[in-house]
Amino acid sequence: MSEPANYRLTPDAAGFFGVYGGVHVPECLVGPLREVADAYNRISRCADFIAELRYIRKHFQGRPTPVSYCRRLSDRLDGARIYLKREDLNHSGAHKLNHCMGEVLLAKYMGKKRVIAETGAGQHGVALATAAAYFGLECEIHMGEVDIAKQAPNVARMKLLGAKVVPVSFGLRTLKEAVDSAFTEYLKDPVSTLYCIGSVVGPHPFPLLVRDFQEVVGIEAREQFLEMTGNLPEAVTACVGGGSNAMGIFRGFINDPTALYGVEPLGKGPKTGDHAASMTYGTPGIIHGFKCYLLQDDKGEPLPVYSCASGLDYPGVGPEHCLLADQGRASYQVVNDDEAVAAFELLSRLEGIIPALESSHAVAQAMHAARRYAPEDVIIVNLSGRGDKDMDNIRQYKEGRGQ
Ligand SMILES: *Cc1c(COP(=O)(O)O)cnc(C)c1O
Repeated sequence: MSEPANYRLTPDAAGFFGVYGGVHVPECLVGPLREVADAYNRISRCADFIAELRYIRKHFQGRPTPVSYCRRLSDRLDGARIYLKREDLNHSGAHKLNHCMGEVLLAKYMGKKRVIAETGAGQHGVALATAAAYFGLECEIHMGEVDIAKQAPNVARMKLLGAKVVPVSFGLRTLKEAVDSAFTEYLKDPVSTLYCIGSVVGPHPFPLLVRDFQEVVGIEAREQFLEMTGNLPEAVTACVGGGSNAMGIFRGFINDPTALYGVEPLGKGPKTGDHAASMTYGTPGIIHGFKCYLLQDDKGEPLPVYSCASGLDYPGVGPEHCLLADQGRASYQVVNDDEAVAAFELLSRLEGIIPALESSHAVAQAMHAARRYAPEDVIIVNLSGRGDKDMDNIRQYKEGRGQ
């Protein structure tokens, strides 16, 4: 393994994690992004900002979230015992609010009046609208018309929280066009607006700042687990869409002997278009302003992707994950729809915890990996969110299989 200090030094000043990341954007965006990077470097070190973020995490988000031992699930398995880091109990039901509160607090310190973002399934839009409501900033969410039609409850939530939802009506009218639309709008007024990304992706400084705001998950989990058991876990596992919840928990254990597993959605199988396993099947390429492992065609255009868990269907992945994989510090595995749904049902029945379908991928991987460990060993799963939002989805999935 490389010197531990190496991991703390990424990204470099230009936003590179090894060869990944960077700022691959049109000239007109370079200036506004540099302003965000400079402001973040300055503001994130200031005592008032740190104190306000701590206050919010404790008194609004309900942090620290607990670490729970899964006794009945562990009794069922051979090998390692399973613990969960309970991001399902973070306010609004998932880890996303950790970086959204940080991003909107940064916007406030930068004197911005408005935050803007795109959303696919609507989870990021809802988290950002929640944060904007808390701070009293305007919030504008760009969303493809196809997604708006599919995600009525999240559209209603965003509006209830005071956000303006802008329908995107060009191209395929889904996430990719929503990104273009949100960036175009942002560029019209970068002085009073901050663009707020939804994961550890995009051009520098977004992968850095989202990772820093999610690191609280790993720091808490390590401290809590040490206090509970006096030991470190043998492994930590988390699902990977863009990779923010995984980076958050990984950073807490990056300098420990703990194994790190990222879990990608294999969807219906390895055939193109049926999965979103960018680390496993992708090749280096550029998407949304940064370099990463990418599911792409021979012209470098992102391929269509799929997972039963809509939060995981992204053809790229955070640049820091790409570096960790190349260095061998983290390993990336796949779990398909069927395995994720089985884990969703098993955790609900055995532990009284309904996991998000995204998080269920990590639960399934932990159940599988447990066999390779001894009974005294522990795997901590980052339970990135709760699964109430997935009930309809599961019903349709089972109907589709005649169950
Ligand atoms: C959005 C989402 C994810 C995927 O995002 P990452 O950036 O990969 O963490 C995972 N779990 C839940 C519950 C989500 O809402």
